[in-house]
Amino acid sequence: MSAYDYDLFVLGAGSGGVRASRVAASHGAKVGICEESRVGGTCVIRGCIPKKLMVYGAHFKDEFENASAYGWNVESVTFDWSTLISNRDKEIDRLNQLYIGLLHDAGVDLFSSHGSIRDAHTVQMNDGTQVRTQNILIATGGVPSLPKIPGIENAVTSNEVFHLRSLPKQIVIVGGGYIACEFASIFNGLGANVVQLYRGSMILRGFDKDIQKFVYQEMIKKGVEIRLNCEVSKIQNSNDHLNVALTNDNTITTDVVLYATGRKPNTANLGLELAGIHLNDRGAVIVDEWSRSSVQSVYAVGDVTDRINLTPVALNEGLCFAETTYGNCPRRMDHINVASAVFSDPTVGSVGMTEDWARKEFGNIDVYLSTFRPLKHTMTGRDEKTMMKIVVARQSQRVVGVHMAGADAAEIIQGIAIAVKMGATKAEFDATIGIHPTAAEEFVTMRKKCSD
Ligand code: NDP
Repeated sequence: MSAYDYDLFVLGAGSGGVRASRVAASHGAKVGICEESRVGGTCVIRGCIPKKLMVYGAHFKDEFENASAYGWNVESVTFDWSTLISNRDKEIDRLNQLYIGLLHDAGVDLFSSHGSIRDAHTVQMNDGTQVRTQNILIATGGVPSLPKIPGIENAVTSNEVFHLRSLPKQIVIVGGGYIACEFASIFNGLGANVVQLYRGSMILRGFDKDIQKFVYQEMIKKGVEIRLNCEVSKIQNSNDHLNVALTNDNTITTDVVLYATGRKPNTANLGLELAGIHLNDRGAVIVDEWSRSSVQSVYAVGDVTDRINLTPVALNEGLCFAETTYGNCPRRMDHINVASAVFSDPTVGSVGMTEDWARKEFGNIDVYLSTFRPLKHTMTGRDEKTMMKIVVARQSQRVVGVHMAGADAAEIIQGIAIAVKMGATKAEFDATIGIHPTAAEEFVTMRKKCSD
């Protein structure tokens, strides 16, 4: 008989934890998992999925406006916040139940509790129950990170913004990254006045510079007021509104302030230091290429390790861990050429190196850039453009980066990412026949290099 209650005990039933549990169980491991919130984690409950449903909701505004050019008479269009929210929440409830069902069907024991690590083989629940386990997997994700400015308690984060009682007339969004740009576009699309404040000189730091500038300009065209080089000094609650004081002495009066200033690994109150698990200076669990921590029997996957903080990465890290440890099939997560998307309006899709990064890496590169008005808007007259960019290492002619901003960018880049991952050359892109008429065909017909 085993000295342990479980072969594997997982902390956190989000994307990485659930995937690892199910795969480990499918290989015959006895698995337990604990979750203090709702099964599904950030992605399903308060992240990617509810956000994307709201993105769909926000896009209808433009579509109603476009419709008349195509002969549709769309009169008296109105928007009802509570319908969107309640339908969205029904879908989240469905997914939450689905995830619980998946764990149940896989034979994984679910504990609805916070869990903390007592030692290398022991996890304790809130009620004091202790389980003994051969291995532990930390998959507790991340939490919003807020600067300590006066009145910050008056701001909401991406956790609470999903539960606003009504659509704000005016919202101030602080940050220039994924979440800030996505919610700026969502609220703008739904009809709120949006002011986005970014402390740096250009939003979407880390993305290709042409894409950054393009998204900035397109978001402004769509009605988002973006203030660059702008910092908040305090937020004051004044009865029915908030006053946001800026360091340049200006004040903005608003209904809601959303802080989207990054996320940090969720490693507090897990007993990690006590158990000798090493964290880095951002509080992330330090792991090796097999997702193993400094303690032999303890592993970690997903945002809690602060490698690439994206759901599909957490899923794959969880899969690799479980296949390696329980499936007798060693697999390491490859973090190179992971595509990502920002569901702002316009949407950004991106894989591989930016122009600046490639130039630093290879010296000589070729850049192909195209900006055009999508066919759809030749009829609507809407001043909306799409940008596509290919970055090629000159000597090898390998395509090392592909970037797009515009309608369907995320869908298109997912396919392109396969070619980039396979090491396709520019000649192979060129030899691919386009699908006409699409925006995507531009990626296989771009021939003119930008000058150095
Ligand atoms: P990001 O790291 O993308 O952006 C954080 C932003 O906040 C940056 O613009 C940063 O500025 C700014 N910032 C940081 N600290 C401060 C501060 N003290 N005062 C003012 N501004 C500040 O984080 P997000 O919160 O947008 O998202 C967190 C992570 O979640 C993302 O990095 C991504 O990994 C993931 N995510 C992915 C999504 C997707 O795949 N579509 C969607 C949403 C989230 P600066 O640039 O100067 O550092």
